[in-house]
Amino acid sequence: MLPSQPRDRRPSLLAGWGRAAPSAARLVDVDVHSLAAAIKELPSRGGIARGLGRSYGDPAQNAGGHVIRLAGSNDQIHVDESAGTVTVGAGVSIDDLLAVIIPRGWFVPVTPGTRFVTIGGAIASDIHGKNHHADGSFGDHVTSMRLMLADTTVVEVGPNRDADLFWATVGGMGLTGIIVDATFTLIPIETSLMSVETRRLGDLDEIMAHMAETDAGVRYSVAWLDLLAHGRHLGRGVLTNADHATRSQLHGRSSIDPLAYDSGQLVAVPPLVPPGGVINRLSVTAFNELWYRKAPRVRSGELQSIPAYFHPLDLVGDWNRVYGRRGFLQYQFVVPFEAEGVLRTVVERLSAAALPIFLTVLKRFGPGNGGHLSFPTGGWTLAIDVPVRCAGLSPLLHGLDAMVLDAGGRHYLAKDFQTTAAAIRRGYPRLDEWLAVRARVDPAGTWASDLSRRLGLAPH
Ligand SMILES: Cc1cc2nc3c(=O)[nH]c(=O)nc-3n(C[C@H](O)[C@H](O)[C@H](O)COP(=O)(O)OP(=O)(O)OC[C@H]3O[C@@H](n4cnc5c(N)ncnc54)[C@H](O)[C@@H]3O)c2cc1C
Repeated sequence: MLPSQPRDRRPSLLAGWGRAAPSAARLVDVDVHSLAAAIKELPSRGGIARGLGRSYGDPAQNAGGHVIRLAGSNDQIHVDESAGTVTVGAGVSIDDLLAVIIPRGWFVPVTPGTRFVTIGGAIASDIHGKNHHADGSFGDHVTSMRLMLADTTVVEVGPNRDADLFWATVGGMGLTGIIVDATFTLIPIETSLMSVETRRLGDLDEIMAHMAETDAGVRYSVAWLDLLAHGRHLGRGVLTNADHATRSQLHGRSSIDPLAYDSGQLVAVPPLVPPGGVINRLSVTAFNELWYRKAPRVRSGELQSIPAYFHPLDLVGDWNRVYGRRGFLQYQFVVPFEAEGVLRTVVERLSAAALPIFLTVLKRFGPGNGGHLSFPTGGWTLAIDVPVRCAGLSPLLHGLDAMVLDAGGRHYLAKDFQTTAAAIRRGYPRLDEWLAVRARVDPAGTWASDLSRRLGLAPH
């Protein structure tokens, strides 16, 4: 839909995936040809790009201003087989990209836990996947991108071409300009299946020891924790390590068409979810027990599809509605490897609070990259999903914030909803450098979002 059409002029209520802090903005749908015109029409509250709205908090909303959504389509996907790269329009989703590249023997360098994110959103959040310890984050694989600046000029940037602006944009949450397209490297694959090792482990120490021992030998590694377990079971969980399966590992029907890919049908959450949601201590205790018990003590070489291993939540459309009307937040931080004690204390505090948390992900990050605001940095990262209605949540999380920051850690902007500007300033020591690049390319502060105002990343 073009921005000049009357329907675009009505404000839309926009929220992140957590649905916890909606705000009204004018949503402007553009293609690459109408993008400059849309930028010229931005009001004093400015504008921000939006992908598929899979960030949990408020980076892709802009109360009282404009929110620009760039259309993506399959004709914006150009694979260079000899270079092992792809050039993709920023509005294209990883979902659409995978459907094109997997049958041709390629995989994205990094995928998050959902494939419903755009390439623009992947770069702007510098997303990480289960392979961060081996491959780094999305920005590490981008060789060049085109960015439309606030004055509507289009610049090409890369690690060797205006590297400062490139790295300010990788993880820059859309606040340097609108990414138009990007070229990045792909991972060659022989099959569309994953060879997975699953291991059920009895407590946090066991999980951390196993992760530290094994992740150098596997490409993908992640652990799910049961945060309602305590005592000697504190932090028990299930570790899954995986690699892309080779042809020689396939047998039976799967070997007939090794690169066959079907992302599977979505089932929807029923339309009538009670206002308070269905996530409570009782349902989560039952779920966690079941999930933990159903995992094998050790199982190796299991073949799983790409959606089953990487994107299991995508099988349920709009699953974020199960948290009820007030929504939920994801709290994600990273602490350096030497701060294992802090991680343990965080897990103890969360477990003692007995919050209804079923999605808890623990992962080891490799070293960070040149992104001024890129989140990953060497250490342990923990992410939890929790309903915002939980009593005492805010003081609890602010208490954890202080521990994380004292340990030299930081919070993930793409997930954030409750951290403070001071916490971001402490966690991201290169913030002033980033603000200087931003002032160079956007002196008038054209790019603005609810997140940028909340966390002091924009002048207005
Ligand atoms: C179920 C689930 C699992 C997830 N798992 C992970 C994970 O494992 N690892 C991880 O890192 N993240 C994860 N995420 C978060 C998600 O990957 C990021 O928030 C991602 O940025 C969302 O992309 P999007 O296209 O929906 O962008 P949006 O959420 O719409 O926007 C995110 C940011 O990107 C900016 N942006 C979007 N398009 C452009 C553009 N063209 N130019 C410039 N800026 C742009 C926006 O301004 C905003 O600041 C997960 C999210 C969900 C819902």
